[in-house]
Amino acid sequence: MTARRADPAADDTAAIVWFRNDLRLSDHRPLTEARREAARVLAVFVLDRSAGGAWAVGGAALWWLHHSLAALSEAIRKAGGTLVLREGDAATIIPALAEQAGAASVHCGRSHEPALQELDRRVEQALARRAIALRSHRVSTLFDLDAIRTQSGKIYGVYTPFARTCRSLPDPDPPLPTVTRLQAPRGAFASDRLEQWHLPPTRPDWAGGLRDTWTPGEAGAHDRMRRFLADHLEGYGSSRDIPGDERGTSMLSPHLRWGELSPVQVWHAARAAHAAAPGRKPDAGGARSGFETFQNEILWHEFAAYLLHNNPAMPDEPLRAAYARLRWRRDPRGLQAWQRGLTGVPIVDAGMRQLWHIGWMHNRVRMITASLLTKHLLVSWQEGEAWFWDTLVDGDLATNSASWQWVAGTGTDSQPFFRIFNPVTQGRKFDPEGTYVRRWVPELGNLAPRWLHAPWEAPAAELDRAGIRLGQDYPKPVISLEAGRDRALSAFRNEVRAAS
Ligand code: FAD
Repeated sequence: MTARRADPAADDTAAIVWFRNDLRLSDHRPLTEARREAARVLAVFVLDRSAGGAWAVGGAALWWLHHSLAALSEAIRKAGGTLVLREGDAATIIPALAEQAGAASVHCGRSHEPALQELDRRVEQALARRAIALRSHRVSTLFDLDAIRTQSGKIYGVYTPFARTCRSLPDPDPPLPTVTRLQAPRGAFASDRLEQWHLPPTRPDWAGGLRDTWTPGEAGAHDRMRRFLADHLEGYGSSRDIPGDERGTSMLSPHLRWGELSPVQVWHAARAAHAAAPGRKPDAGGARSGFETFQNEILWHEFAAYLLHNNPAMPDEPLRAAYARLRWRRDPRGLQAWQRGLTGVPIVDAGMRQLWHIGWMHNRVRMITASLLTKHLLVSWQEGEAWFWDTLVDGDLATNSASWQWVAGTGTDSQPFFRIFNPVTQGRKFDPEGTYVRRWVPELGNLAPRWLHAPWEAPAAELDRAGIRLGQDYPKPVISLEAGRDRALSAFRNEVRAAS
């Protein structure tokens, strides 16, 4: 028997767990492995505001990070441990802490983000100089991304065969149990106070809508997942496209982004909920059950991670080289109208205002707003991507960049460039009564459903009756939808012609 097992209190073996985008205690392999290896575990989070360059954590996500770290710190304290918070370069801080703790290894989650991968290399080298090992573990994907290849050993560029392959693999192992007991290494480890990082906004405090909407942290994540799976999973196939249905989707994305939940936990919990659902059958929306549709979305999340892992330049450069020289327009006025939710196109403005208020936007509306920017306004997808990055609480480098490229038509598995969402048709189809638009664009609240998605088409008497003076109470459209569409089509066509 080892000394550790004989007398745990006398055992001074130590390991470090370096938390990053995996702010949880359950299904957490770095923590589980560290505890297996050592009697004492030091939990550390390092804030590096400049890490990631242009993709340093955005404003809304910093608000989330603050609250998620507070929750993690409290959970670790309850388990008997301590979360050490330090600001600076992890390649300096982590090795110094490991040395002070007398740790033989540092455990962390594996990342598919290029900046984190580069940081891992630097930390690994600095640790190696002290004969300390860096051990990284899968924490944010269902599968080992390197193991997913086509039959000829190539990388998938298209979702459907990728998802088919994922489904043919053995199911991910069930989630690891929650770590409930932790003991820190002996000694005093200097830690910053979370408050001194000033992560949430103060002047002005724009986070009211975020506070009203979200409960960051592992407990909040599980609570949201339980409620969604128990009551809404079976209807998900048809409800997921209705932005006015506030329970139509899970709203788990920020919890997944910060790793308060792992995709493995969601995958298994969804399967269990589906098996337990009374009279489960395909829902009205089509042949697939809500469960299968939901699983497909989790696989889209996996696919985005896979694309970034294999295309590190994806956040900045088009995946399809043919679009690299496309001449996007500089349109500060149009971009600002879009950002502020003042384009005069109601479903777009509703989405952009929802984003500003609660740091999240419904998926259908993300597609519509992104399409208006990149196609009708012909403003580059990178401009939209950057705005989403700064305003989303779920801003995720892989999913955000893959999705923007998908909408703009520059990705490997994108909708074709000639497919341009008509925001009026989309609004009428997915928000027929205008529930969503009325909620976020209250100045249009009295307009009849028939005119709500295109107020510029409404007869003067209708506008009068609804108390709207177009151009004063609500803007006229920033662009004619027909003209914008034609311009986008010819720009994309020219580009394709020039490249072929
Ligand atoms: P649900 O419908 O409940 O789906 C469950 C989970 O599946 C989500 O939490 C998410 O992890 C995953 N998922 C769902 N839809 C997609 C999708 N289209 N692509 C990839 N994964 C998906 N998602 C982010 O998490 N972060 C982003 O930064 C992000 N940026 C986006 C930008 C654009 C332009 C577009 C069109 C989509 C973007 N998405 C992003 C994808 C999607 O809109 C969100 O994941 C989804 O709206 C989150 O809501 P939910 O948790 O209720 O999703």
